[in-house]
Amino acid sequence: MTDRELAGRIALVTGGSRGIGRAVCRRLARAGAWVAINHSSSHEAAAETLAQIRAEGSEGGVYQADVSSFEATDAMFGSIEADRGPVDLLVTNAGIASFRDDVDMPVELWRRILSVNLDCTFNCVWRAREHMLARGDGRIVCISSINGLAPTTMRRDRLIAYGTSKSAIIGFSRNCAVAFGPAIRVNCVAPGLVDTEMTRDMPDEMRQRIIASTPAGRAGTPDDIAELTYFLLSDAAGFMTGQTCVASGGLVTLP
Ligand code: NAP
Repeated sequence: MTDRELAGRIALVTGGSRGIGRAVCRRLARAGAWVAINHSSSHEAAAETLAQIRAEGSEGGVYQADVSSFEATDAMFGSIEADRGPVDLLVTNAGIASFRDDVDMPVELWRRILSVNLDCTFNCVWRAREHMLARGDGRIVCISSINGLAPTTMRRDRLIAYGTSKSAIIGFSRNCAVAFGPAIRVNCVAPGLVDTEMTRDMPDEMRQRIIASTPAGRAGTPDDIAELTYFLLSDAAGFMTGQTCVASGGLVTLP
């Protein structure tokens, strides 16, 4: 990987306004990509991501869209294409979770978690693939979770919806890797616990139990996940597609 390997490339990161998405935006921008920073409602935070990218000498733009809607996603891709051209690097990162203690999971919450986490991934991949297939070149990383590989032992009803949505993302990306190869490489990243706004409402006892079971002895940082995502988008990962790469400090190990 060279310092500015992604120069001339156009990247789209969904949910780029904070947390893992922001770190991914910054990493891709440092590697030379022009980065479209998507968010649904946190406009100031997305503008802050762009300011940080510019402070590091790179460029990008902010694109508001609720990517759980195909129509909104389509319009956002249209705006990026009009401003800069088609997307060559896609990171589907937008997602929601609920770690609250309540045993009950209302049906509406099941639908919302499935819709945001899975439809956001489908909508963006579906829209991005048109140009990627036409050009014979595209790279996609879908952000899943270790909860998509192994159910949590934390016994939270709400994590059933989250884990199911993240398993579906893994299945979706594997199928896409087969259907769109060799033009497009599609891989998944499955992070373990990462300190972000998403995990802020996790009960402290739950957080401590996870860290105590993690060989690395700590929670992950957004930069940990951004480095792996960048690797998968780079030429160095040219022989990798259809894979799920776990970054969990050893909490989950694949056979
Ligand atoms: P976060 O801090 O809550 O950030 C979530 C991002 O997604 C925000 O930028 C949010 O922007 C955006 N978003 C949510 N719904 C959206 C929608 N419908 N359309 C567009 N953007 C939307 O979360 P995070 O911890 O960085 O998580 C990022 C991804 O990593 C998620 O897919 C999550 O499931 C996954 N992950 C996280 C962890 C962890 O421990 N943190 C572990 C494993 C996997 P707005 O506020 O503008 O909506």
